[in-house]
Amino acid sequence: MSDCLFCKIIDGSIPSKKVYEDDDLFAFEDVNPQAPTHILVVPKSHKPTLLELEESDKETIGKVYLVANKLAREKGIDDGFRVVVNCGEKAGQSVFHIHFHLLGGRSFMWPPG
Ligand code: AMP
Repeated sequence: MSDCLFCKIIDGSIPSKKVYEDDDLFAFEDVNPQAPTHILVVPKSHKPTLLELEESDKETIGKVYLVANKLAREKGIDDGFRVVVNCGEKAGQSVFHIHFHLLGGRSFMWPPG
């Protein structure tokens, strides 16, 4: 989508610190990290929120978690990490292209704020 920030990061027209890419997913460092490791794992196909997921997205979303595991091991945060999706403004979503936050390198509270 032409006016989507994450579509522009995926197509390279906006720079990012890429940590992973395959045919379906793109992952890069969050510009405003909330933990020592904060990576965004983003499906390349543009969908605004989790609510727009369809049956045909099942495989890609499964892959998100496999890639998150791989990155967590590579970054040395596999002793404890979070994968978080904010869905909708009320939940804190600010970029309306589905993305999964991979956070680690510190302790986390529960419940989240
Ligand atoms: P959310 O608030 O769940 O929609 O998450 C959006 C995330 O995108 C935030 O953690 C931002 O810090 C991050 N972000 C925004 N712009 C950029 C950018 N240009 N490069 C990397 N991360 C970004």
